[in-house]
Amino acid sequence: MSDKVIPNPKMTKRDFLRFCGMNLCMFSAASVFCLPKISLAQPAKKGLIKTKLSPYFTSLEGGDIQCELCPHRCRVPKGKRGICRVRENRDGKYYSLVYGNPCAIHLDPIEKKPLFHVLPGTGSFSLATAGCNFQCKFCQNWEISQAFPEDVYSYDVPPEIIVKKAKEMGAHSIAYTYVEPMIFYEYMLDIGYLVKKAGLLNVTHSNGFINPAPLRNLCKVLDAANIDLKGFSETFYREFCSGELTPVLETLKTLKQEKVHLEITNLMIPTKNDEMPVVRDMCLWVKKELGADTPIHFSRFYPLYKLKNLPPTPVSTLDKARAMALSAGLEYVYIGNIPSHEGENTFCPKCKKMIIQRTGYMVGEVHLKGGKCGYCGKPIPGIWT
Ligand code: SF4
Repeated sequence: MSDKVIPNPKMTKRDFLRFCGMNLCMFSAASVFCLPKISLAQPAKKGLIKTKLSPYFTSLEGGDIQCELCPHRCRVPKGKRGICRVRENRDGKYYSLVYGNPCAIHLDPIEKKPLFHVLPGTGSFSLATAGCNFQCKFCQNWEISQAFPEDVYSYDVPPEIIVKKAKEMGAHSIAYTYVEPMIFYEYMLDIGYLVKKAGLLNVTHSNGFINPAPLRNLCKVLDAANIDLKGFSETFYREFCSGELTPVLETLKTLKQEKVHLEITNLMIPTKNDEMPVVRDMCLWVKKELGADTPIHFSRFYPLYKLKNLPPTPVSTLDKARAMALSAGLEYVYIGNIPSHEGENTFCPKCKKMIIQRTGYMVGEVHLKGGKCGYCGKPIPGIWT
């Protein structure tokens, strides 16, 4: 499944090395044999490791604070935390409790994010801390997203070490992913500036639930984002995610304005968000507000977490959604979580030829020349070099 992390609460340095090797195996067997040595210098451990003052909060009367990072705008009394569990009011100041404390670090193919129009076939050094500002009933990483930071095993890894290790391992990008990355905003931003200096890319897979000011600040270093559009109604967001749709739509428009490369993922959950008229409305909104050339991934749901009672998404539903999106005018429409489906490939919208072939996370033939279709010369949106 796309961007699922397999947590190992007692991951040691050796486990970490082996895991990175396994992930690499999925897309490049040859790379496994030239894996550089990694030394994290310490095993994962439980408990709070480091904190950092948040730049986005307002002090209120009586020592309460209001967090300004995401649209929940939690009002937090002294000694308490916000909804995401990883931010705490300490004597009237608001602190991130997960700065420099990733609980998941893997080298993934960038196709796993999924980002299909960003340096195909390259490795993305992917990380997450505990916590999330949503509570999706279908979360595939709920063991860490719905955890308190002191309850998971984490590493103490300063930003400069993340970038150093990513370069040593031959990654072309750093991915902030697995949980909602905006909740470890300060860590992401500090890594992000170092990443730009090192000549790598910053990419994220996010729920897009962030306020405009921190988002625009993040866009100074962010190269590409895959944003979950989990449904297309406020009811769905409230009932299944404990979130809201409108701020996510605003985030999508802001990323477009800020010229961050943008892709969208829609996980199709049987009977919950798979009505074709709604899918059509969503596609028409994407075309009008973001452009017909915005890649969209319809992803297969598998029963897990609080929705184990539902079946996997029928392939026919995903096929209908893809056909609907194409007929609505979207040009790059993908199917996710079904390896070898034709919808994993990129087709030129002009000459209709296959220009990037994929099987799962493996990239096959690529027919691009300087960011253009290798057959007819049509420019293809993305980051290709
Ligand atoms: S980032 Fe966390 S604490 Fe801040 S508003 Fe969002 S959920 Fe609340």
